[in-house]
Amino acid sequence: MWRQAWRRIWGFRRRGRGGVFCEGRHQVKDLAKVELHLHLEGAAPPAFIRGLAKEKKVDIGGIFDEGGNYRFADFWEFLKVYEAATSVLTKPEDYARLTTAVLEESAASGVVYCETFLSPDFCGGRDVGAWREYLHAIREAADRAEAQDGITLRGIITCIRHFGPEKARQTVRCAVETAGDFIVGFGIAGDEKIGKPKDFVWSFDCAREAGLRLTAHAGEWGGPESVREALRDLKVERIGHGVRAIEDLALVDEIAEAGIVLEVCPGSNIALGLYDGWRKHPIGEFYKRGVKFTVSTDDPPFFHTTMAREYEMLNRAFDWDEGVFDGIARASLDAAFCDADTREKVLKRL
Ligand SMILES: [Zn+2]
Repeated sequence: MWRQAWRRIWGFRRRGRGGVFCEGRHQVKDLAKVELHLHLEGAAPPAFIRGLAKEKKVDIGGIFDEGGNYRFADFWEFLKVYEAATSVLTKPEDYARLTTAVLEESAASGVVYCETFLSPDFCGGRDVGAWREYLHAIREAADRAEAQDGITLRGIITCIRHFGPEKARQTVRCAVETAGDFIVGFGIAGDEKIGKPKDFVWSFDCAREAGLRLTAHAGEWGGPESVREALRDLKVERIGHGVRAIEDLALVDEIAEAGIVLEVCPGSNIALGLYDGWRKHPIGEFYKRGVKFTVSTDDPPFFHTTMAREYEMLNRAFDWDEGVFDGIARASLDAAFCDADTREKVLKRL
């Protein structure tokens, strides 16, 4: 049933070659986009982090290459660079400035609604009182961006898998205490090779009981089994990445039938070497098989991407045109964790 509904949303309005993208790069940017998988710290422009490090007289020069971009060789080094970059964000005010910088970039790429992962681990060390202050600063910046650029932000609190289940319990307390119209979801990110989804069941149960919607990173560095475990143990409705499900087509069919949404970030997967190129990315197969998915950037400056670039590369690789992308934006809004009023407001921008 889901699959049929999804196909209706897509509408299969393919117009073939010669669509909107042949007319100029600026038009890709102008398409209204919905992004559901973005780590706030991971979206920090390197120049912003360098500037903050200079202000605070902290030396993190080693994380940048000669061109001033983040330098890392693989996913595990990426996690280290990510944490080093995040170490200069020490105050609520830093997060307000970060939110402003990130939303400016997103709005410039045509994003009208965005859900970002927020980590109380980095914002006040999982202390509920401190977290409230960070959240207040982030919300104020988000409100300003909405008034100025017409982009709406909502937050998904994530625990960090490699920090372990005990810290996740503290993180979910922050989530439960601040769940509401802005904090709409709970999730898990970090190193998929450490621990198991079942270690985090308690935290996910708490979040669910507090009315938060659930997503989990899986099927990026773990195979199809990791996706099955996240679905079975954490009972999430969205999977962050989930691309490795492609190695088990029966699972792909189950995901399609159940209406589970994959938050696919092709540029991230390709930059980290998971796939050899855009044409080899499984997103094309997901589309053909009626899997619900969204397109996001994950940690855009780390992977030298933007939402506009993701669209552009997908257009080149799979010949998807404006009709397909419009379907993706609408289906993504459908999968968003925000309330009905927000969804309706954003729908008018599509
Ligand atoms: Zn991610």
